[in-house]
Amino acid sequence: MAGRRPNRRAIKQHYSYTTEEAANVLGVAKGSVRRWLKAGLPYLADQRPFLILGGDLRAFLDKRGKPKQRCGLAEFFCFRCREPKAAAGGLIDYIPQTALSGQLSAICEECETIMHKNVSASKLALLERQAAVSFPQGDPRLNEMGNPRCNDHFEKELKA
Ligand SMILES: [Zn+2]
Repeated sequence: MAGRRPNRRAIKQHYSYTTEEAANVLGVAKGSVRRWLKAGLPYLADQRPFLILGGDLRAFLDKRGKPKQRCGLAEFFCFRCREPKAAAGGLIDYIPQTALSGQLSAICEECETIMHKNVSASKLALLERQAAVSFPQGDPRLNEMGNPRCNDHFEKELKA
């Protein structure tokens, strides 16, 4: 059975691996290996499919230490992948639960499981910088029209 942590001892120092082979040897999803490549794992780009050197892979995993399990703002904990995952296509839905918070939904970019999490409405602006947030039930921030604008100040200026 594959453990949750990649088994770096299974990697042979002087061997080279395709993304798929590396994933199989380590017992992780192919997407994880692709993520490592994006995060700086060196590979031999002049080969197709490109190859990862065992020594590089080990060094990368050693440096990386424990896999991070905390989700970024635009990430969700996918119960199928058992790790934080980004939303497929960067698409996230926001459903308000209260005036101040709501539930985010997205599809796991790797396994297409629907993922949810709660978020404070105050985080929406930040989230929108990282993902495409849509509001199937309306944007709660557009409902904050409670108080009509106060014109006192303006009127005083007109009289002066
Ligand atoms: Zn997943």
